Amino acid sequence: MITHPLTAILLDRDGTVIYDKHYLADPDGVALLPGAAKGLGMLAYSGAGLYLVSNQSGIGRGMFSEADLQACHNRLCALLAAQGIALTDALHCPHAPEEACSCRKPATGMWETLKERHGLRPEHTAMIGDKKADIAFGLAAKLAVTVLVLTGKGESEAARMGLPPLPPGEGYALLSGRQPGWPHIIARDLHNAASAILASTKA
Ligand SMILES: [Mg+2]
Ligand SMILES: [Zn+2]
Repeated sequence: MITHPLTAILLDRDGTVIYDKHYLADPDGVALLPGAAKGLGMLAYSGAGLYLVSNQSGIGRGMFSEADLQACHNRLCALLAAQGIALTDALHCPHAPEEACSCRKPATGMWETLKERHGLRPEHTAMIGDKKADIAFGLAAKLAVTVLVLTGKGESEAARMGLPPLPPGEGYALLSGRQPGWPHIIARDLHNAASAILASTKA
């Protein structure tokens, strides 16, 4: 299904890597989702770089500061380091929706920045997230693979997008007969997303 090796994995943060706590500002509230460390470890071991792309409108709305976000990020990096995982880079959009910036997903500003900074290629890049905006971002950037995880807001977003349910007992499914805007893959969590990506790039 995927004809090029994937060398870059773009990741949403809240609801994908860590629990989605409404406008998280306290580093003590940072907690990895089940399967997150395992999935990230598998992807990193495959040789792919890991890049966070996160909408953080709480900054633009005045709910928390850049320093609060950095403290949470440092905590996340410490939790990942304890599992032997390092992020290659992490970007966030600090803007409120009404600022109409070019970096709030589904706009592709963060992809443009990463592409430029790290020489990324869309055909070698995947996007994993728990919201329709994450998938729209990946599709607009013409990335090789988009994965909707069912953690965080994923279940309700899948229903909103009219996606078929994941078959019982399955960790992931490749969506055939994709409608416009659908992800390539749905996965129960980040571990299943990593399994799906690695399985689809073998063969
Ligand atoms: Mg999210
Ligand atoms: Zn922005």
